[in-house]
Amino acid sequence: MNREFRIMMLGVGNGFVKSTYHNNALLEVEGRRFLIDCGALAWHSLYELGLGFEDIDGIFITHLHYDHCGGLDEAALYGAYAAGRKMKLWLPAPLQPILWEQHLRGTLENAAEGKTSLADYFDIQTVEEGEPFWLTASIGAGVAGGAGVVGEVSDASSAGDACDAAAADADEDADDAADDADDADDADDDADDDAADDDEDADDADDADAAAEDADDADDDADDADDDADDADAAEDADDGTGGASATSATNATNGAGVVNRAGNADGSFGAAADHPLLPMYWIQTHHVPSKFSCSLVINNRFFYSADMVADADLVSRLHEEGITDFYHDCSFDSSPVHASFQDLCQYPEAIRQHTYLMHYGIAPEGLGEEALCGMRLLKQHEWRVWRRGSKLEETTRE
Ligand SMILES: [Zn+2]
Repeated sequence: MNREFRIMMLGVGNGFVKSTYHNNALLEVEGRRFLIDCGALAWHSLYELGLGFEDIDGIFITHLHYDHCGGLDEAALYGAYAAGRKMKLWLPAPLQPILWEQHLRGTLENAAEGKTSLADYFDIQTVEEGEPFWLTASIGAGVAGGAGVVGEVSDASSAGDACDAAAADADEDADDAADDADDADDADDDADDDAADDDEDADDADDADAAAEDADDADDDADDADDDADDADAAEDADDGTGGASATSATNATNGAGVVNRAGNADGSFGAAADHPLLPMYWIQTHHVPSKFSCSLVINNRFFYSADMVADADLVSRLHEEGITDFYHDCSFDSSPVHASFQDLCQYPEAIRQHTYLMHYGIAPEGLGEEALCGMRLLKQHEWRVWRRGSKLEETTRE
């Protein structure tokens, strides 16, 4: 299934270049915004776009280098002392303990105020490798930050009317379900079984045991099956008017207990909020600095977003065979043992290079035409690319 979204690089620089910002991305889905990585310059890049903490619904972190996570200190402190809400933070499981102990604790620990862990600053969603999860946004009364955006989701409804917005979302998901019905790729035998499982879980959203059982059921076929299950649930919701509440339950069922935030946070900062699934993704460990964890993302089941990584032709070829159509890829025009060199990327199969977009390159050599780029394209910071439903990346607009 494809969800329409757009993506902008907040920067395309490596850690040292001063003329471009750090290699972090801004994703926008149904008017909600998310960051892939939050480097030391991310908030400044967002500021140039007229955006700030209140405009961001959550962050995914790929690895612990300052140009990818150096802006989390600010997100934590601004959230705690200025905005009064915890930023959602999706973390690969291996990063959760070390992000606090090896990176943030020195800045953020404040025992006098009871702030002694990462969870005291962020609404953490931990995800395992290959496990499908969704970027979600809180909807409902009392949402802190982005309440006006909910109005954008459903222009026909009054701004902030979460029920109308959820119903509009359910209508869109019903459309997705219809699209999927025509999509032979998504119609596999496992879909019915998993859809049935998710229906049961959706009927019993508060049953943590059921959600845990569902997590056990997750397998490599879960992507398409869960997509269809979500859409089927949403289509039913559209019929019975229950809207996003059941869609949230389906998301919980998809991801298992503890992965997706349930309605409302422990600290009550979101009020009577419900989480709305927006964009499916999963992460894969990729090679960067030896012995240092780093991971890349598959977004929307079709789009690969590399973290900092060395070239890996076997991986991208396998992903391409599995249906991944577009690749945002780390690139270094200088030789580097921990990044993908431009020369190595030129050895990728042509069918992949034609849909490969280069980032993290810092400053590209002068006069690089299409031919000299081996069919690949350079991403520029602050330019949107749009993923249309049922299509692939297209079009560039300058912010
Ligand atoms: Zn790095």
